[in-house]
Amino acid sequence: MVVVPLAARAHKMTPRLADAAQECLLRAITPSNSEGSQALAWGNAIHTLLKIDMRRQLAGQAPLAPDDLIVRGTPRAPWRDDPDYFKLAHACIIGMRAYLDEEELEVLRAEEFVRTRPRRVTGTTDVAVVLSGRFDLVCRRPDGRLVLPDMKTGNRLPSDMELAALPSTTIYTLLGEELRRQDAAIRERTTDSIEIVHILPHLAACSSVALRPDELDAGRDAVRAAVIAIDREEYTAIRGEWCAHCPIYAANTCPAWTMRQGGGSENF
Ligand code: SF4
Repeated sequence: MVVVPLAARAHKMTPRLADAAQECLLRAITPSNSEGSQALAWGNAIHTLLKIDMRRQLAGQAPLAPDDLIVRGTPRAPWRDDPDYFKLAHACIIGMRAYLDEEELEVLRAEEFVRTRPRRVTGTTDVAVVLSGRFDLVCRRPDGRLVLPDMKTGNRLPSDMELAALPSTTIYTLLGEELRRQDAAIRERTTDSIEIVHILPHLAACSSVALRPDELDAGRDAVRAAVIAIDREEYTAIRGEWCAHCPIYAANTCPAWTMRQGGGSENF
């Protein structure tokens, strides 16, 4: 991909969209109503707690006791006093602090948004992509490697091999390169080696990878294919386990599930 003037049709691509597109592009581009999701609300709140905790650390302030941080940093929502939320938030705070400590990671930024300028998509003359995403943390190993942890509050963690194959890992890596380009302070303190981490701090579990050139090329190919398909409005539906949570499946309007359209009882 090369940088182009804004004459091209530019499509935004985020890590989340890229992963969803790899499963089923039709579902990926279909708006979903997850605003009422408790898991999403708790996850967002815990990410905010992490940001507050790390920004206090960056400012040289003493760490708050986890309980104090949760009470003061969580919105006054009805679930704030839910013991399960409290337990999860507590474990995430403790787990993230322990992870940074054990890995000897220096936090450089907490919640950092990065986006690229439009880059022309190879193989096209008028299609461009803008990569955009948010890093939960930007960290540095003692040897200068840039480490970009992505905190999750669920229970599923990809293996290192699965992580390497995710399009989001390619996008986070490219955004890490972009961050080094844009931010002289980070560039001076880090090397060009970039490590992507998925971490479940409440379970003390993580996966990590520094992409090899061939893995990065494969990831670029996947992202490129998704952008071109979006530009052509070719939203192919691909069946998989992800259909279970798809609003198109629920509405019985998916072209990939034609068997259901002939009628028949949905009763079990
Ligand atoms: S039901 Fe499955 S195949 Fe159809 S759009 Fe949804 S995720 Fe894609």
